[in-house]
Amino acid sequence: MTKRVAVIGECMLELQGEPFGAMTLGYGGDTFNTAVYLRRCGAAAGIEVAYATALGEDSLSAGLLERWRDQGIDTGLVRRVVDRMPGLYMIDVDASGERSFRYWRDSAAARCYFDARVTPLEAEAHGFDALYLSGITLAILPEAGRERLFALMAAMRERGALVVFDNNYRPRLWADRAVARGAFERAFELATTALVTADDHQALMGLPDIDAAIAQAKGLSAPEVLIKRGAAPTLVRAAGDKAWHEAPTQRVERVVDTTAAGDSFAGGYLARRLAGEGAVESAIHGNRVAARVIGHRGAIISAEAMGDLV
Ligand code: ADP
Repeated sequence: MTKRVAVIGECMLELQGEPFGAMTLGYGGDTFNTAVYLRRCGAAAGIEVAYATALGEDSLSAGLLERWRDQGIDTGLVRRVVDRMPGLYMIDVDASGERSFRYWRDSAAARCYFDARVTPLEAEAHGFDALYLSGITLAILPEAGRERLFALMAAMRERGALVVFDNNYRPRLWADRAVARGAFERAFELATTALVTADDHQALMGLPDIDAAIAQAKGLSAPEVLIKRGAAPTLVRAAGDKAWHEAPTQRVERVVDTTAAGDSFAGGYLARRLAGEGAVESAIHGNRVAARVIGHRGAIISAEAMGDLV
């Protein structure tokens, strides 16, 4: 049976290579990475994924759309905005192989998604079984846009759709931690499923240690809560179950690049959950997908490298 998931956020252009030398242009962004892994892991079960964002009317924006479609992503929810372009980030690799990121995203088109009386996502929301967004989606939207998104979360939840919030917290995207905290608290209340990275929750809530962050996250009101803890087992409280369970992670011989660990976890998890599997089994699958992704370079690994997981 077909299930349709709308994922909202920002996918940026990615520059990688030698500054002032040869560089390659790719693309990526947390929610987009999730969209790709969800589509890959869920295609066989009939899961369709549409990405909601805004792009410009330039040729790079057109190039992104073409590549997203090649990844099997439905682009029907994308808005094109005049005089705006996609955001950009550059990956710097230092002598020891440590990666760092620089961003040019302040005037990116994605921020303008809700600058329309009705967006494609709002107009089409009734046709979707699930909505997925992250703390970065909240961060890039202006306040009015965030309010529209909260209203949409409430309406979709009311209709019985799954509303999934992944807490990616990036302090530098927020002017002020209190504002971020207020926005995250709203999103956690409106979500049916909270995906919580313990580290990010600790930073957001200003808690003294990871145990305090886990204890706080366990008190979230969302019906289903998953707490990710890197290599340690994922903590899972399924909707309709009061007990906490542990979903084991995979042993990774050599961690090559942790980019998109949480994003790919979410894709693998949701693919199984929407296909009707239990929360713990789905989280185990999410952990399998994440383990594969961090054993390879880049946010979006080749489909061939995970052919056995889809
Ligand atoms: P995020 O990427 O959101 O910051 P985590 O660091 O908790 O979140 O990692 C997300 C998932 O990636 C984990 O639930 C786990 O499946 C996997 N993962 C991360 N680090 C490791 C590791 N060292 N060994 C095995 N799995 C890992």
